[in-house]
Amino acid sequence: MMAQYIEIKAANPDCLLFYRMGDFYELFFDDAEVASRALGITLTKRGKHLGADIPMCGVPIHAADQYLQKLIALGHRVAVCEQTEDPAAAKKRGGKAVVRRDVIRLVTPGTLTEDALLAPGRNNYLAALARGRVSEGADSFALAWIDISTGEFRIAASDADRLAADLARVSPSEVIVSDSLYADTDLKALWRDLDAAVTPLSPAFFDGATAGERLAAYFGVATLDGFGSFDRVELAAAAAALAYVEKTQIKERPALSPPSKEAPGDAMLIDAATRANLELVSALSGGRRGSLLEAVDRTVTVAGARLLARRLSGPSTDPAVIDRRLDAVGWMLADAARRTGLRDALAAAPDLARALSRLILNRGGPRDLAAIRDGLATAAALAERIGHPSDPPPAEITEVASILSEAPVDLIATLTAALADGLPHLKRDGGFVRPAYDTDLDEARALRDESRRVIAGLQATYAADTDVRALRIKHNNVLGYFIEVGAAAADKLMTAPLNARFIHRQTLASAVRFTTTELADLEAKIAGAGERALAIELAVFDDLAARVTAAAPTIRAIADALAELDVAAAFAVLADKEDYCRPVVDRSLAFAVSGGRHAVVEQALRDSAGSAFVANDCDLGPGDGEESGRIWLVTGPNMAGKSTFLRQNALIAILAQTGSYVPAKTARIGVVDRLFSRVGAADDLARGRSTFMVEMVETAAILNQAGPHALVILDEIGRGTATFDGLSIAWAAIEHLHVVNRSRALFATHYHELTALSAHLPRLVNVTVAVKEWKGDVVFLHEIKPGSADRSYGVQVARLAGLPPSVIERARAVLRQLEETDRRSPVHALVDDLPLFSATHHEEPAAPDPLAGLVDATNPDDLTPRQALEALYKIKAVRMKSGGKDG
Ligand code: ADP
Ligand code: MG
Repeated sequence: MMAQYIEIKAANPDCLLFYRMGDFYELFFDDAEVASRALGITLTKRGKHLGADIPMCGVPIHAADQYLQKLIALGHRVAVCEQTEDPAAAKKRGGKAVVRRDVIRLVTPGTLTEDALLAPGRNNYLAALARGRVSEGADSFALAWIDISTGEFRIAASDADRLAADLARVSPSEVIVSDSLYADTDLKALWRDLDAAVTPLSPAFFDGATAGERLAAYFGVATLDGFGSFDRVELAAAAAALAYVEKTQIKERPALSPPSKEAPGDAMLIDAATRANLELVSALSGGRRGSLLEAVDRTVTVAGARLLARRLSGPSTDPAVIDRRLDAVGWMLADAARRTGLRDALAAAPDLARALSRLILNRGGPRDLAAIRDGLATAAALAERIGHPSDPPPAEITEVASILSEAPVDLIATLTAALADGLPHLKRDGGFVRPAYDTDLDEARALRDESRRVIAGLQATYAADTDVRALRIKHNNVLGYFIEVGAAAADKLMTAPLNARFIHRQTLASAVRFTTTELADLEAKIAGAGERALAIELAVFDDLAARVTAAAPTIRAIADALAELDVAAAFAVLADKEDYCRPVVDRSLAFAVSGGRHAVVEQALRDSAGSAFVANDCDLGPGDGEESGRIWLVTGPNMAGKSTFLRQNALIAILAQTGSYVPAKTARIGVVDRLFSRVGAADDLARGRSTFMVEMVETAAILNQAGPHALVILDEIGRGTATFDGLSIAWAAIEHLHVVNRSRALFATHYHELTALSAHLPRLVNVTVAVKEWKGDVVFLHEIKPGSADRSYGVQVARLAGLPPSVIERARAVLRQLEETDRRSPVHALVDDLPLFSATHHEEPAAPDPLAGLVDATNPDDLTPRQALEALYKIKAVRMKSGGKDG
């Protein structure tokens, strides 16, 4: 047996091996030591290998999921090795033959399917990242991601600039890359910063030449044309993801939806730092509490929660898509009774997608069948409800209703007839098929139950015949059925004539056990009938699972439609309860919010019964005659509400483009294609960069990437260094934003000197957060108004915070001195003395070079020799046109 173990382990060196023995998965050698430490289970030993004890530990089958979850969460991968033949078959081969075993599945973070291992309201993605060389130094990337627990499969092109943001949006649990990509020094930081397991694989997984074929084979189609058009790198990523799914699922094949392609501009691009900073789906403290997602999630199903998280992670950039979603929310909002009715019905829908995936992967249980039954029944009921509306529903709802009405009634009926009332977790426990569904099963069960009655009768007979009233017939797993009498009565059964009938089996301290041929026969019959009943039940299960599998595409579409309905209704509830308004989203550069609030802070203030949230306007759109949006420079003392104001506007843009109503009186938003949010002086010691370095790296990313359709939030940039350093950097950054990036931006600062810039930058607007001074204290009004703050009120804030009075007094004195010095050499003078950024900035964006464009658009890998020659002529022609020499 050890030889078999060592062989299987050698084939899976990077996994902990769960080796099935009876009712346990055992781990040996190093695996045992790792697992016993990680799981807190006892380390024992079993036999010897090369003269040394073999460490061993085990987890019981029935609790395996919990242990798996722990190990996966700790970053381990597990190979599950099962017995692949009946032990009896091994015995037949010879006394010493070892039961055949095989690894049936690799459990990795990105390929989970069990509810116990998954967060219900979150997708669990495996992502594959492939790279193609467009030319020396210019790489293209593609990302394919799969959730095998729901069947989702998507592909998107990416590039070096946006790669991190794309990965952050998908937020996979596991990323697979080729060895060479993994070793690439340029990408080391990316792997390190990813909150995912990164698994390097051999380049064969990413082979572009065979990728198309491999994909087509998986989906059983001759050509992929029906799914869309994919380039070589996209195909390589998709095929790698599939190959990895096959590698981990071994024999089972999840029924994935055909890959759907997302265009690079479909979703608002939000990098990881911005997501973290805005606390989109998880708070800075980690976890969902305090995040935007938590604040706006009113869904009643887990599938709805997943869809909401997905949409919030990648808000749309298409006003048509957004309007469609807003229409659906509006329809839900219009009729409270209808909305409540739909939600009550929805709440009964189990997680169809995940139950379906488990059934298809042969990992499902009776409760998964019940989930399909109940989910489909819910769909059918909902279709009815939407079918008779008082006012006609908008496009999205109509589409949902038409999908729901496809719920296969036959399948619902079959499942309803087949499944018993109380269902076991595992199919091997039996007892899940309803009586009268299968006559053979009913017969086998009757026989089994009848025999049990016969045994009870037998006990009475034996007691009478032996005159031992305490005689009992019992059952255990070792002996099966046996007759038990007290020690005193045993002699009687062991002497003639009774010993001819009662055969001694076992003597215990207080009891002696016997059997009879009659009892042994009966036992065989009972076991036979029980086994037969279970076998029939398992066959029924397989039949039902096959019917479900056959309807998989319909069921998946229904699952998606239910989620969509849930999200629309949930946003309506949110809008209703929280008093949100419908935003106008278009392709302009507008950003006009009146009465805007911070979705999370507003609720938090209310929960803590604090003061009410103060609503504020924001208008970053171009003014009359202007072509680009504006920059609002927000000054004000600490604690005034600058950061809150900045973030609330970013969140309003995100919510609007997600297709939600927004916390404001009115809002008009020109689609934001890219959102940046940075805070000065955020600590990031874990990544080994100084605070200031992080701040600068992130600011650099913004100044290099933001365009006119971007929204930029800069919160106290430059705070992480000495005053003049910081001021200078903030100064230059604002000028760059204004002149080069021309993005809509909010810039909070405590450098009041910066407000002087508005004299020279026409689209820079100074606003400040109002405070009142009252008896030497500062009172925060949280009101944004035009103008600039003249001072920081730092000392007053320090006083509020409870610094000792002597320190406060001293600080006031020092401040007076400093302000005196400042007045003698005011920084304000600088603004007049320094030439503006635009004047020193010579790097005017050049007119596009047609030759460079042509070269960039040519991918040598995709060309036939003839096309290559044609391309060469084309290049030559373009060069001639722009005045090149012939030759
Ligand atoms: P700053 O960035 O100016 O130091 P913050 O934005 O961090 O200030 O706000 C400080 C605190 O003031 C917040 O924690 C919040 O409780 C409160 N606050 C901010 N804005 C508002 C508002 N508009 N209405 C009510 N309270 C607010
Ligand atoms: Mg702040």
